[in-house]
Amino acid sequence: MRIDRFLANEGLGSRKEVKQLIKAGLVKINHQLVESPNQQLSVETDEVSVNDHIIAYQPYVYIMLNKPQDVVSATQDKLHPTVIDCLDGSYGHLELFPVGRLDIDTTGLLLLTNDGKLAHQLLAPKNKVPKTYAATIKGQVNEQDKLAFEHGLDLGDFVTQPANLQILAFDEVTNHTLIQTTIIEGKFHQVKRMFQKVGKEVIQLKRISMGSLVLDERLAESEWRELSPSELQHLM
Ligand code: URA
Repeated sequence: MRIDRFLANEGLGSRKEVKQLIKAGLVKINHQLVESPNQQLSVETDEVSVNDHIIAYQPYVYIMLNKPQDVVSATQDKLHPTVIDCLDGSYGHLELFPVGRLDIDTTGLLLLTNDGKLAHQLLAPKNKVPKTYAATIKGQVNEQDKLAFEHGLDLGDFVTQPANLQILAFDEVTNHTLIQTTIIEGKFHQVKRMFQKVGKEVIQLKRISMGSLVLDERLAESEWRELSPSELQHLM
């Protein structure tokens, strides 16, 4: 593998940024200064260092993204920027993809990875991985809605599994209710359709957790970071 690709894949920056590191004389392979970004290395046997810190080879990458609005949960799109574009070229050649989808206007937690096995584990319906959303709803969400969510809603093409609904606050001035809901499925527009079924409208939707993974509140929309070893361990 080329050294510039290796460094970009390991999260040291975009291809352009890692070339700057090489130019600055900070990159070594087996203690020898790297002269050119197209120098080859063996990821299994060669030791790479940047500024004398060893860069361990990691075949899989796990990114927590706080997805903004107006960005699609896809790897490519003709009309809109994608969640992969949020990474600004980092991990460029690792073929990351989003684990599941959030609607274009939904914000919050989205895991990006190149680990197909973990993605499958998190998305397989039989694993019933809970996903929690915080939402602003038009109108006053009430106890009846809570019971309907717990009971399961017939959405026509399927009946939802029992879902938890917590009413956090109602604002009489705006006529908006803040809620949190946890669902164990992930069908298209599911939360919006569930509220529609009880006669209400979702105004804002943000995913705050998926399984054991909780959105880091320090990440502003569009910001991302790699999962910590402990987050990854709990997720697997
Ligand atoms: N439910 C929705 O309606 N939209 C999402 O983006 C996620 C869950």
